Amino acid sequence: KKLNVALCGLGNYASRVAQGILASEYCTLAGIITGTPEKATKWKSQYNIPEKNIYNYQNFDEIAKNKDIDLIYVITPNGLHKEFTIRAAKAGKHVITEKPMAISVKDCEEMIKACNDNNVQLAIGYRLHYEPTHLEIKRLGQEKVFGQVRYIEASLGYKIHDPLDTKSTVNFSDRNEWRLNKKLSGGGPLMDLGVYCIQASRYVLGEEPIAVTAQFGKVYNKQIFSETEESISWQMEFPSGATANCNTTVAYDVDRFYASADEGSFELSPALSYGPFEGKTSKSPLKFPVINQQQTQMDEIAKLLLENKKLPNHITGEEGLKDIKVINAIYKAAETGKKIAIL
Ligand code: NAD
Repeated sequence: KKLNVALCGLGNYASRVAQGILASEYCTLAGIITGTPEKATKWKSQYNIPEKNIYNYQNFDEIAKNKDIDLIYVITPNGLHKEFTIRAAKAGKHVITEKPMAISVKDCEEMIKACNDNNVQLAIGYRLHYEPTHLEIKRLGQEKVFGQVRYIEASLGYKIHDPLDTKSTVNFSDRNEWRLNKKLSGGGPLMDLGVYCIQASRYVLGEEPIAVTAQFGKVYNKQIFSETEESISWQMEFPSGATANCNTTVAYDVDRFYASADEGSFELSPALSYGPFEGKTSKSPLKFPVINQQQTQMDEIAKLLLENKKLPNHITGEEGLKDIKVINAIYKAAETGKKIAIL
């Protein structure tokens, strides 16, 4: 048997996930949930989806009666992850929700509770947890192959508007409307991209940050960035004494990871985007075969669910919640100018 997956929210990333599912061994793209009838028609014929497995946001809850759907993958704007995760859990379906898990700690806690109460499993779409280059930097850090990591630099940003062209609002808004709306996004690039820098720092060190400081970057376009930040830098302190220096932005391109340890270093660039990733340690090159990240993620999750096994801790809702706690602290630090402890 394959795991029957329904995608909720059919935007850019959902198309990538659909391709991953098509290439997968253990999953079928069995259903869709969309608010746009035209997309339902298009996806139905493109992916051969039975009419009875197509839902909209109003009749979504009827999916509880549909035995042909095992898991719902929520790929909507961040601010809607909570609602759809809870509705999926109440319908008795396992859930994957995209990163960032939600826009507040309270939302994450409610999502975890709903999944526990309804006896379904919850995963976050952390595709890099299955990517070989990232598994290697995690091993290098956690197994202290070059000794204790003392210092990390991690940055991810995309130039999606021209900082000097103050009239370039239309293109940017068209492509990223919800990302500029704080209710739907929870914040700017820190929510969207910075979460990868937090994740990589945490899994390379195998530690949780205990305090952060942060600074908002320059706002080049006050009209576009009236609700969300354009750039932000932050520093994380870890119990071992290690520190991580991070940056995320939508004003310029940056995609790097660097770790300095007692007996050497390792780095990647590109590091945190879709890849392919490339880098080196102080001893040798770091290059692994390119994989389909979405396919691998889906297959690894499906294998466990099909055997009724527990998903590993590093991809669960509890893990997503940890990132949101760090993100909250970073915003608070940037707003107050103070060092914020993470409890
Ligand atoms: P997108 O704008 O392309 O798609 C969002 C989808 O949600 C659209 O189909 C839209 O119609 C739907 N939607 C439902 N209700 C909506 C509302 N009220 N307002 C706006 N849209 C609404 O965005 P995306 O890039 O596909 O991002 C979706 C999610 O996937 C986000 O949480 C994002 O962080 C995540 N994502 C993850 C990765 C990854 O690599 N894991 C990459 C990109 C995006």
